[in-house]
Amino acid sequence: MTLNDAYLDRYAAAMMNTFGRPKLTLVRGAGSSVWDADGVRYLDLLGGIAVNALGHAHPAIVAAVAEQAATIMHTSNFFATPWQIALGERLDALVTRGAPAGAHVFFTNSGTEANEAAFKVTRRTGRTRIVAMEGSFHGRTLGALALTATERYRKPFEPLPGQVTFVPFGDADALASAVDESVAAVVMEPIQGESGVVPAPAGFLTAARELTTRHGALLWLDEVQTGIGRCGAWFAHHAEPVLPDLVTVAKGLGGGFPIGACLAVGAAADLLTPGDHGTTFGGNPLAARVGLTVLDTIEAEGLLEHAAATGEWLAAAVADLRDPRIAGVRGRGLLRGIVLTEPLATAGVAVAQRHGFIVNAPRPEVFRLAPALTITRDELAPFVAALPGILDEASG
Ligand SMILES: *Cc1c(COP(=O)(O)O)cnc(C)c1O
Repeated sequence: MTLNDAYLDRYAAAMMNTFGRPKLTLVRGAGSSVWDADGVRYLDLLGGIAVNALGHAHPAIVAAVAEQAATIMHTSNFFATPWQIALGERLDALVTRGAPAGAHVFFTNSGTEANEAAFKVTRRTGRTRIVAMEGSFHGRTLGALALTATERYRKPFEPLPGQVTFVPFGDADALASAVDESVAAVVMEPIQGESGVVPAPAGFLTAARELTTRHGALLWLDEVQTGIGRCGAWFAHHAEPVLPDLVTVAKGLGGGFPIGACLAVGAAADLLTPGDHGTTFGGNPLAARVGLTVLDTIEAEGLLEHAAATGEWLAAAVADLRDPRIAGVRGRGLLRGIVLTEPLATAGVAVAQRHGFIVNAPRPEVFRLAPALTITRDELAPFVAALPGILDEASG
């Protein structure tokens, strides 16, 4: 028996069975490599699901965690800390892009909690209807689940907070018929991650902004997966001239350390007042210090430009394979979906792992890649070269 299998048997005995049997037991990481319990190395092309923005064990994060843990780690929100304030200022400036509208932040520990905070902000408009998108994913707590379209995630947990209308993602006419004066907010991901890396068609965010402004509703963009450089810009919605009212982030912000944030712009920034919301851990100095370090490092290493260019190179390299089983590559920056003409991706994930590559399949016909923003072409090239062979084995 391998050490991996021994661990996975103990896992099955100890853990609730919410994730099924994990694929491996990982014990170490460095850059874009991880090692399993038996010492086998893998190229990590999933990055902990778009989380490990700087790869594994980046020296700047290692130092930030160690120094902050030795300074002060947790205070509760009865007290402010310099790191929390500095990270709030940075995120407020990034989300407004220099627009005069101010922004305020609420820190959380996860993406779903960031969305819960935003959901509560929308309730303070005095309206309760929400328009969300088919194919959306916003998290697993009951509020976020109410906004998530996927039937198999929602059904077992109904009744969920109500008055949510789903419209086809990217259909501006359907959106226009759904939005009126009773709508508190329109919520969407600029690129739907869990449903297979599906970008909003060009102009859709702009149309949503115009509609929500006209009807006095909030535009709420869930950038939990797409934000913090993942798509080659600080936020994926920066591809359009849109200033949203609410932006939620998490995943990449902590580079592996749990932190999320709900950013509220302009009038929405002041909708929550004392007593409306809270958190014990959210915005603690350790998480905030790591978040600051992630932002600093993205800037210092030029990772927005790097992610944009490397993602373009990857998409072109996969297209150059001219493999008839590959329909195309979707997404932007380093959030990419390799779309197949046949449902080979689920089997392909296991084959890829045997070849030393970690990817996942959000849909049976889509491989998702969300590697570290630091990954290089030299690291990606062996995966591209191996892809036709992986598809051969997956179909065999
Ligand atoms: C992952 C994800 C969430 C949930 O984040 P958690 O940290 O798992 O709670 C919410 N929205 C989107 C778009 C996500 O990709």
